[in-house]
Amino acid sequence: MSDRPVNFNPGPAILPLSVLEKASRAVLALDGVGLSVLEISHRSKEFEAINADAMARVKRLFQVPDTHDVLFLQGGASGQFAQIPLNFLGKDQVGAYVLSGAWSKKALEEAKRLGNAVSIASSEAQNFCELPSLDGVAVPANAAYVHTTSNNTIYGTQWPTLPEFPGQRHVCDMSSDIFSRPVDGGKFALIYAGAQKNAGPSGVTIVIVEKAWMASAPKTIPTIWRYQTHADNQSLYNTPPTLGVYLVGLTLAWIEEQGGLAAIEKANEAKAKVLYDAIDGSNGFYRGSVTNRAHRSRMNVTFLLPSEELEKKFLKEADALKLVGLKGHRSVGGLRASIYNAMPLAGVEKLVGLMERFRKAN
Ligand code: PMP
Repeated sequence: MSDRPVNFNPGPAILPLSVLEKASRAVLALDGVGLSVLEISHRSKEFEAINADAMARVKRLFQVPDTHDVLFLQGGASGQFAQIPLNFLGKDQVGAYVLSGAWSKKALEEAKRLGNAVSIASSEAQNFCELPSLDGVAVPANAAYVHTTSNNTIYGTQWPTLPEFPGQRHVCDMSSDIFSRPVDGGKFALIYAGAQKNAGPSGVTIVIVEKAWMASAPKTIPTIWRYQTHADNQSLYNTPPTLGVYLVGLTLAWIEEQGGLAAIEKANEAKAKVLYDAIDGSNGFYRGSVTNRAHRSRMNVTFLLPSEELEKKFLKEADALKLVGLKGHRSVGGLRASIYNAMPLAGVEKLVGLMERFRKAN
């Protein structure tokens, strides 16, 4: 295992090795059951315990109050782009979206298919290389909710502190930085995330939602798309992604073993600093692609080299050293190092070592 590649993939992404080891054993036989976690019924008491344990961990980590429910759904964050307006965007209301990247744009587009939705702030004119300014932003009086994206996976921007919209229901897509820092879950009407970056494998969508709001959704929408259906059934209304939920539980247990979100945040800050220092200390050889340093992500570090040829050469050398997943998203170019919770500092240091040698040689 010691010669595993260092995994900088944006998602699905690196998971703690101890989680993979535990999961691989459970794929053969669950402790005390003898059958694979893949083979047991989602109605069995063993799976009910796995499900309840993972939900309890979400609640603990984000201090989710009793006014909110935790749901494990399917369909990814993209499914939430539609399910949110389907449940919450009333006829005379408007969805208010803060556009900070391609994913928030997609969320807005889906809302527009289902009702009225507008952008209330956008950094699209800046190519999303910084976060939009929220100074003096006007939320429409008939807003059903304000939607934000906490971390912009493609561009490498992240709200240093999550914005607040007093008196409004705040919906936040936390797909790429969930459980990377402390969050007060009760401050949000709805939080959602595909699990595949910081919380487990793809196939599980984590939702934390205000109970009263969820109950207010019209009963005319299809049963499967009503949040309330899943809340009423502990997310076991239909067959859940059982292995995925098991892995979410293991991943959250690992976070708690690390000391919880305050400790995880500290480690994430330290890792990001090493990488950004290498970029900023390179005399302009490496350039961070985020224009406002205060908006830099601690999860996805995006940077450019002096030319595309050098970028290709760098990626080749990285590949030879088994540093994988570093190619930037096609809409930004350059490189992107995704350094989620499970990335050890040693992995970042290996990358920085290559960056320094490469700069001197080129
Ligand atoms: N939102 C953000 C911030 C993302 O990073 C992604 C995926 N990378 C999505 C939404 C879409 O997630 P999914 O593929 O789970 O639908």
